[in-house]
This record gives sequence, structure tokens and C-alpha cells, in this order.
Amino acid sequence: MDDKLMLMIPGPTPVPEQVLLALAKHPFGHRSGEFGKLMAEVTENLKWLHQTQNDVLCLTASGTGAMEAGIINFLSPGDRVLVGCNGKFGDRWAELPEAFGLNVDKVTAEWGQPLDPEQIRAKLEADTDKQIKAVIITHSETSTGVLNDLETINRHVKAHGEALIIVDAVTSLGAVNLPIDEWGLDVVASGSQKAYMIPPGLGFVSVGPKAWEAYKTAKLPRFYLDLGKYRKDAAKNTTPFTPPVNLMVALHTALRMMKAEGLESIYGRHQRLMNATREAMKGLSLPLFAPDGFGSPAITAVAPTGVDSEKIRSVMKKRFDIVLAGGQDHLKGKIFRIGHLGFVSDRDILAAVASLEATLREVGYEGFTPGAGVAAAARVFAQS
Ligand SMILES: *Cc1c(COP(=O)(O)O)cnc(C)c1O
Repeated sequence: MDDKLMLMIPGPTPVPEQVLLALAKHPFGHRSGEFGKLMAEVTENLKWLHQTQNDVLCLTASGTGAMEAGIINFLSPGDRVLVGCNGKFGDRWAELPEAFGLNVDKVTAEWGQPLDPEQIRAKLEADTDKQIKAVIITHSETSTGVLNDLETINRHVKAHGEALIIVDAVTSLGAVNLPIDEWGLDVVASGSQKAYMIPPGLGFVSVGPKAWEAYKTAKLPRFYLDLGKYRKDAAKNTTPFTPPVNLMVALHTALRMMKAEGLESIYGRHQRLMNATREAMKGLSLPLFAPDGFGSPAITAVAPTGVDSEKIRSVMKKRFDIVLAGGQDHLKGKIFRIGHLGFVSDRDILAAVASLEATLREVGYEGFTPGAGVAAAARVFAQS
């Protein structure tokens, strides 16, 4: 059936009708008064969403572009950076600074496990001559569905004193509490196709005072992603280069929707969606990939035994028009991932779990009691 597609991948995420309608408008000039007015409200609402007084800058880029900007603007060739690697995105944030000639040191954890803050503390404490200039952490590791303990890691970075903390919050911002000012996070990057409920194309970087100090002496080359340019123009409610005007209009609408829902409700909803999904998987005797207490409110990874996860994904798509994400790299065929990020409701989870039960029957998996997944999810929804 046409137009019944349900995206349950961790980006692009579903887009609300109000936002689709906003996208359908004619573009207008980005040097116009109309754009300036829109940008002023967008900037104010982005600061609200980021819980910060820092600059929050909009780039025409995917999340990776936002991270690249968040790294290259504040560092110089040869600088030592410490990167937390426990999945595909953590690994990317080790490769990126390497490509720019930085000296990369890693703290790793097995895929599916959280980073150990103690290992990060030990590396930082051993760095008595303060050579580590930045610590790069992926808050919600989308490839494995693990939420890293950013609050604790950040405390160790603060105790170090010199290093900036640079955060990939691409699937955590707008899904889980991330109080930038309260925690003192220097650089936080995110992307439009995740919790923002708009299509791909915009990247966001929040930059604090300590990072702007580092910017003054940072020597890596920069041009299109020179955040100083974006900061200067944002003060005049404009952008240095042509922004995707239609996406900015969509963002304006989506941020108003988020404000109307409220931060507490947004975080509560994502928590509930995660709890219901995790309980449903337990009800179906499907092993969860991330341990309890470290599940990401954006995405749940499931590691079924005795059944190919790619087969599950293909039946879910063909029979029920529900798109799940697969495993990346060595996890391909071993896990499937249910995205519950952005414009997702309790009903979507019930539909997905019921369809998954029907799919399991179809692929011949018999290790579950029919209805047990839906019942477990419904129990969570009844309680919260
Ligand atoms: C989606 C995502 C990104 C950004 O990926 P792009 O394809 O560049 O938008 C970065 N980090 C995480 C954790 C993500 O989920």
C-alpha cells in the first residue's frame, strides 16, 4: 500500500504533517527581513532546546559536517585528542581527527557496551603536562543503542582543566536530557534528521566560551566550516552562505512543536518508548544488545539468536511497511535496530511490536509466546 511507510530507523526519522506543509512553501531570500525574523526565533528556540546561553550555529551539513566543524575549529596540527570508541560513530570520530593530522588516542569498549569513565579518568590524570586538548565522546552510540555516561565522563574532563569536551549528541539532543550549561559542555553537535523531526540537511553546533578561546589560536585550516563566520552572521540573524531556506522554515515549525510539548515531556516520551521497546523484546525472549541502564532512548538494538536479523528486517518491510535498521560492519546480520527517535508515539511502538511478532512467526522463530511482546509494551504504557 502506498504512503504507509513507517520509518523506524535512527534517521531520517518521521516528519510531522505540519512540518511537511511548512516544507512545501516557496523559498524566500535569505538576506530578506522575513528570513531574519525567522532566524531570530529559530536561534532563540535552538538555545532553549540545547539548554544553553552558548552560541548554537546552523550549518548546511549532515551530522558528520557538524562534528567536523566542532573539531577542526578548536585544534591545531599535532594536538593530542582522546576519543571514546564503542561503536561505528566513536570510530568515525577517531578517523576524522587523524585525517586532519591530529594525534589520536582512544579509549575503547566492546560494541554493545558503554565506555568506562574510569579508563578516561586514568588517561586524563596521567596527562600531567596537559597535552590532551580535547576529549571526543559519542553520547548516544546509534550503531549499538548504547547511551554513554556523559555526565561522569565530563566531570573527569573538567577535573583535567585543559581539554575541551566535544560531544556527538546527534541522537541524544532532543531525546535525552543534555543540560549544556549546567554540565559546561564546550562543543555539542547534532543533526536535523534525528530528534528535530525534519529531513536531513542541517547540522547544529553549540559552542561555549572556552571553545571560542581555543578558536583564537587554533591552526587547522578552515573555510566553509569556519564557525567564527557563522557566529558573526548569527548575531545579525543571517548565515554566511545560502542556507537551505525551506529546511529552516521546517525547523522553525518543528521547534515550535517541541516547545509546545516541553522538554520534560519530550524526554519522558523517549524514555517510555525505550522502556516499552526493551520490555517487549524481553517478553519475546529476544536478547537486547545494550545492557539495562545503558539503553539509548533513541534506539534499541536487538540480537536475535537462531534467526537472521536481515530476514526479520526484510519481512517487516515487505509485509508491514515498517523499516528497521540493520547492524553495521561486523554486526550486519547479527542485530536489528528499532529507532524510536523524534516524531514517534506509543502507538508506533505497539504497531511495530505486533508486526514484529507476526514477522517472527513468518520466519519460523518459535521461542516466544504470541502476544507477550505487545503485553509487555502495554504494561509499560499503562504505568507511565
Ligand atoms: C546519524 C548520526 C551521525 C551523523 O551522521 P550523518 O550521516 O553525517 O548525518 C553522527 N553520530 C551519530 C551518533 C548518529 O546517529
